[in-house]
Amino acid sequence: VDVEALARDLGLTLVREPSFHRDIAGKIVRDTHSPSGFTIYVNANDPRRRQRFTIAHEIGHFVLHRDLIGDGITDDGLYRSPLGDHMERQANALAADILMPRRLLRTLWRDGQRSLAQLANRFDVSDAALRIRLSEMKLAA
Ligand SMILES: [Zn+2]
Repeated sequence: VDVEALARDLGLTLVREPSFHRDIAGKIVRDTHSPSGFTIYVNANDPRRRQRFTIAHEIGHFVLHRDLIGDGITDDGLYRSPLGDHMERQANALAADILMPRRLLRTLWRDGQRSLAQLANRFDVSDAALRIRLSEMKLAA
């Protein structure tokens, strides 16, 4: 999944921010210059696959919570923000849906593709994100 193209298609401006402290994953802020009215900032110092998850997570906030985030929210390294745990879980779930579609992952798993590294490469996600997804889908070996 080209998560940056998805963000663009939704009218979200994407900025890789090198000055973020490592305890900040990203943020989404109101931006009248952006087609959607919002810009996503992602920590440029994070590994590339983690940045992909962060972008998908912020897309989740845009899709689900844009009316609730005021001028913007910042996610810390554990994807916590003033929105609270419930909405953070919703954003994580939508991020997983974007990056690791259930049907495709289940099909690959049933076809015997159960190498964590190969699946993580295929979806271009971190091993950690893949493990959480497999566990949540009750596919973990
Ligand atoms: Zn969040």
